[in-house]
Amino acid sequence: MKYYILFGPPGAGKGTQAGAMVEKYNLRHLSTGALLRSEIAAGTPLGRQAKTLIEAGSLVPDEVVEGMIESQFNQAEGVDGFLLDGFPRTIAQAESLDALLNRRGEEVTAVVSIMIPDTLIRERITHRASIEGRADDARPEVVDNRIRTYHEKTEPVAAYYRKDGRYYEIDGAGSIEEVRGRIRSLMDRF
Ligand code: ADP
Repeated sequence: MKYYILFGPPGAGKGTQAGAMVEKYNLRHLSTGALLRSEIAAGTPLGRQAKTLIEAGSLVPDEVVEGMIESQFNQAEGVDGFLLDGFPRTIAQAESLDALLNRRGEEVTAVVSIMIPDTLIRERITHRASIEGRADDARPEVVDNRIRTYHEKTEPVAAYYRKDGRYYEIDGAGSIEEVRGRIRSLMDRF
């Protein structure tokens, strides 16, 4: 099985690009953000716990997302691999993913990182707020906290994968089609 990580700051276009990637390479899309939002919509205890944190622009506890990912890995029928979107978001999550895959005799295939500058993050999220109505997109102070959280906790994950040569960065500035083309020419090599 292939295990790809789609990496990058909020608003980089991960969700947008994931659709074409899962189709072309027959992968299952696992978005921790989307899984958490469906727990919130269903009003589960986990969803209630996550809601407060997400709407403040903070991360939910590592154990929560790690548990969600592990249970999704057990539903792998009919696919050639997984596309992890929004996970791992901390070094602890990256270590836990390595341990989990190791137990299954698997490993991370590659990290595909879509990079955009902070100014573009704000622009994209402000635009998305008017379309998707996500509570964590609407307030500037929440967006600021997400950007800060990204730099403090998530950006170090890039170095974690870079050191053993599994990290590939592409430029996320440009049209959806341009970025899709860049991702394809990278992924066709794996
Ligand atoms: P974006 O890519 O715009 O940041 P996501 O949908 O990936 O949006 O995530 C929305 C929110 O869900 C995050 O700000 C965070 O609160 C929570 N979340 C998603 N994935 C994780 C994770 N791996 N660890 C902790 N919290 C997460």
